Amino acid sequence: MAFESLTDKLQEAFKSLKSKGKISEDDVNRALRQVRTALLEADVNFKVAKDFIARIKEKALGEEVFGSLNPVQTVVKIVNDELTELLGGTQSRIMIASKPPTIIMLVGLQGAGKTTTAGKLAVYLRKQGKHPMLVAADVYRPAAIKQLQVVGAQIDVPVFAKEEAGANPVDIAKEAIEASTHMLKDVVIIDTAGRLAIDEELMNELVNIKGAVHPHEILLVVDSMIGQDAVTTAETFNEKLGLDGVILTKLDGDARGGAALSIKAVTGTPIKFTGTSEKMDGLEVFYPDRMASRILDLGDFKSLLESVQGAIDEEEAKEMAKKMAKNNFTLDDFLSQMQQVRKLGPLQNILGLLPGMGKIKDQLKDIDMDSKEIRRIEAIIKSMTKAERTNPNILNGSRRKRIAEGSGMRVQDVNRLLKQFEEARKMMKKMQSMRKGKRGMLPKL
Ligand code: GDP
Repeated sequence: MAFESLTDKLQEAFKSLKSKGKISEDDVNRALRQVRTALLEADVNFKVAKDFIARIKEKALGEEVFGSLNPVQTVVKIVNDELTELLGGTQSRIMIASKPPTIIMLVGLQGAGKTTTAGKLAVYLRKQGKHPMLVAADVYRPAAIKQLQVVGAQIDVPVFAKEEAGANPVDIAKEAIEASTHMLKDVVIIDTAGRLAIDEELMNELVNIKGAVHPHEILLVVDSMIGQDAVTTAETFNEKLGLDGVILTKLDGDARGGAALSIKAVTGTPIKFTGTSEKMDGLEVFYPDRMASRILDLGDFKSLLESVQGAIDEEEAKEMAKKMAKNNFTLDDFLSQMQQVRKLGPLQNILGLLPGMGKIKDQLKDIDMDSKEIRRIEAIIKSMTKAERTNPNILNGSRRKRIAEGSGMRVQDVNRLLKQFEEARKMMKKMQSMRKGKRGMLPKL
């Protein structure tokens, strides 16, 4: 996950403040030096880090942090607010044309994830009720056209392509837009050619496509793992082409996160989405405030709730919430929940969105489930009587032995399942109390 080490370092900086009864200006300066080092180690642009610290210092002095009741929380709040600003302030949406089709042009270097992102974006827009189509405007690499066609087939979205030699990307884009009307498609996503490095010829071609089709959105797809090079790439594309936004891919593999933190400040171009896996649903809308809280490990509740809402049957979820409130969570519920949680993807990713969970999620690895494990759980739970499923406290040694035999498992497996169930129950309690708590409350440091 991105920002892990930055999160740890920031927590350390704040902890050093917490050990003091009352904090002085020197204490704040020391903590901010730590914050600056943490940012630089996360590969944040030097000037961006310097300005960031200067703004925090100014605010901290203005807010009379010193001698206030809870100076550490005040500092954390200031850092949180500034981090949100740094990441772009508020969410930047993509523009949807009042008169269809909305034309989205994806640009970027080869390997950045453009083709994959074109597919992900189509899936995302379809979920918003749109009818997207994809356009293969990379005429130089037949493999690139093929790749987009494979993506299109996989997600069941039509791909406009011309495979004959000598086809011109500007004409392809224009024809695709005309075709979209007949095909009743209201969003046209153009996958343009990439190169290994920025070159004049490519830029001219992109400028020509822009001039011919006037896209509503020109989005740069850039690989976050290349760190500061991503920022430089964004700067160049923005100068030549005028970008409306950036899609930062492979954030799942970028431990440092420096590009995410610098792009908006350096280029003025907002990040609109991030890529978080190779799969077609691995695209997330970028919310600066949520990302800031995630970096500070204040928890990212809204994203959590949205991903849960996306995957979980609403009626069932309501029912579950009622049971949680009454503390009536049974092994039957556990099984049904595990089945639903599987749809959300790895449990660890979900846990990463919860406040304070950044640290302990590694320790909870053993409650992560794969489908084999779900089947194992199913077998064990089905070997229990109704009374046992409803009230696991009655599961003594002999009952556990009987269940193990009945399900073809070992007693250790039954014990392990019950431990997992307990962990889940604890986690639910934690979620429940957080839901009751005030939103935006800062965790105790
Ligand atoms: P293009 O050359 O810019 O069209 O890049 P591709 O779409 O072919 O992507 C290059 C590689 O990056 C492929 O292996 C993709 O599966 C992978 N990829 C793209 N986006 C992401 C992402 O957000 N996360 C991860 N882990 N891999 C990604």
